[in-house]
Amino acid sequence: MEWLHDARDVFPLLDKKAITSEYKKMSPKKLGCVHAKIEQRLDFDHEALLLGESSNIRKTRAKPSEFRIFINSSLQKVGNIALRKQVVQSILMHELLHIEAEDLLTLSKEYSRRKKKKIHVKDFENEVFRRFNMLREKKGILQIEKKEHLDIALGRIMNSVRWK
Ligand SMILES: [Zn+2]
Repeated sequence: MEWLHDARDVFPLLDKKAITSEYKKMSPKKLGCVHAKIEQRLDFDHEALLLGESSNIRKTRAKPSEFRIFINSSLQKVGNIALRKQVVQSILMHELLHIEAEDLLTLSKEYSRRKKKKIHVKDFENEVFRRFNMLREKKGILQIEKKEHLDIALGRIMNSVRWK
């Protein structure tokens, strides 16, 4: 949660959202994921319904304001805490950007019939990388020059914890 708090520094648009993060057991291929609490309301004229004048009922969904980010619990095996923090924060960047881009609505099953939006376009990945470097800069940590280098580094960490 402390690392998430730090990470939110570069996501000012999410200041009013309730976001939690925790470790969770998941496939070794996955680094993390995010769930949104989407509230569904039934919108109709109750009087018209009772009087038999209208049976028109619409489902409406409010924009989610509560989110839970899950981080692959295998990463707890990374013994060096400063190193683990970098890995976890890079994953948090990815999930926070999904929240900021409001991708969760399209990700959720309920919304499968709505507009199909590509969620991992190249710009998305580049933006994750940019925010991660922004956070590092704020913390006085050297920036990473290329996204590719970060990807390789994360891949190596995942490989090192996979069979432990
Ligand atoms: Zn994603």
